[in-house]
Amino acid sequence: MSKIQAINWLKRIPLTLQIIIALVVAVILGIALGAGNPSPSNATLITNLAIPAELILKALRTLATPLILVAVLHTFMTTNIPGTAGRRLAVLLLTNTTVAIVVGLLVANILRPGTWGTLVAPGSTENTTQSFDPWGLFKDAVPEAILKPLVDNNVIQLIVIALSFGIVLRALKSEQIQQGKNTYQPIEDVIAILFEAVIRILNWVIALVPIAVFGIVAKIIAERGFAPFQSLAAFILAVLVALFLQACYYLTRVKIGSWVNPFKFLAGGTDAFLTAFSTSSSTITMPITFEILQTKIGLRESSASLGALVGANFNNDGTALYEAMSALYISQVIGQHLSLGQQLVVVLTSIFASVGAAGIPNAGLVTMTLVFTSVGLPTQYIALLVTVDWFLDRCRTAINVMGDMTVSALLDGKKPHSVDEE
Ligand code: ASP
Repeated sequence: MSKIQAINWLKRIPLTLQIIIALVVAVILGIALGAGNPSPSNATLITNLAIPAELILKALRTLATPLILVAVLHTFMTTNIPGTAGRRLAVLLLTNTTVAIVVGLLVANILRPGTWGTLVAPGSTENTTQSFDPWGLFKDAVPEAILKPLVDNNVIQLIVIALSFGIVLRALKSEQIQQGKNTYQPIEDVIAILFEAVIRILNWVIALVPIAVFGIVAKIIAERGFAPFQSLAAFILAVLVALFLQACYYLTRVKIGSWVNPFKFLAGGTDAFLTAFSTSSSTITMPITFEILQTKIGLRESSASLGALVGANFNNDGTALYEAMSALYISQVIGQHLSLGQQLVVVLTSIFASVGAAGIPNAGLVTMTLVFTSVGLPTQYIALLVTVDWFLDRCRTAINVMGDMTVSALLDGKKPHSVDEE
């Protein structure tokens, strides 16, 4: 088989299956290397097993800032949001995402999954403890130079830059359209191409995730046996509990704030939830969400398009909840207490990180590096989360889609679509 044939053959195996195969092979290798009692002669080999994950993590960190920047600019340039409905949409998105993060933090604070077992960082960890300084944070929000947030991976500064340019470019575009000009077009095209380019590079990195999972899991099992997975299992459980509570919140909001019956909402949304779960991508699911909102749930086209097409670009509640929980979980694992103030920083950065997470598989993992950096948590631990992300990504994507559907239902209001409206 030629190299190209081998690559094409590999591409045909779904990523999840590749990860599962990597997990199985890693368990076998980890046991062969000692399962908690490694022989000193294998020490270098075992240490080197972490290298792929370290490299992949570095690549993800590098891509996080350009991804957020171009994703926000792209959304501002290409989406059309009518005035009043736009303001309602913004309020709904912000409240839903904040609730998601608070639910995530509450569950993580109550269940404390990080204390259920022991977990050790796969690579060396830098000590970056930071205390919370709201005034400093505010002063720091304006970067010293325009490219500095990209260099420092500073998410708050980056958002200031992205929002400023996004708002201005959008306004310029509208003014030019009114004047019958189109000089904004080349910029819009460049942003669209850059967005596509970042996503493509991201896809290369994501294609390597099975190798990272293999290395990390084999290393952990070889060095410490199976005990660390108890901790990750606790984390999975905690995230599932939080996502379930968020789903209950959506159904309650739909019941109180719209004419839609929550049961019909759930039943009608099945296709979208299943597509989201099986593809791990809310963007791929978008056309289905838009369709079922109208045909199966009976919403007006305007509400469906505003919630499921426009809102979907900004709205990733499941991702926000996950990012916040991950930060708290790792802080519990390493015993680095996050004060209330620091948790507030987590709320803020998770909101932005979820906005910047494009609706593609594993995007939340990419922007998570920024949340960790903002409160001084060692990003090496994200390599451990990679091992469970293939499953949790599916679950949070389904919640992301449910969030878009909830926003659409709320925008549709208390009165059902009547025939004479058509
Ligand atoms: N996969 C998610 C989505 O498409 C994003 C994420 O990784 O959290 O909505």
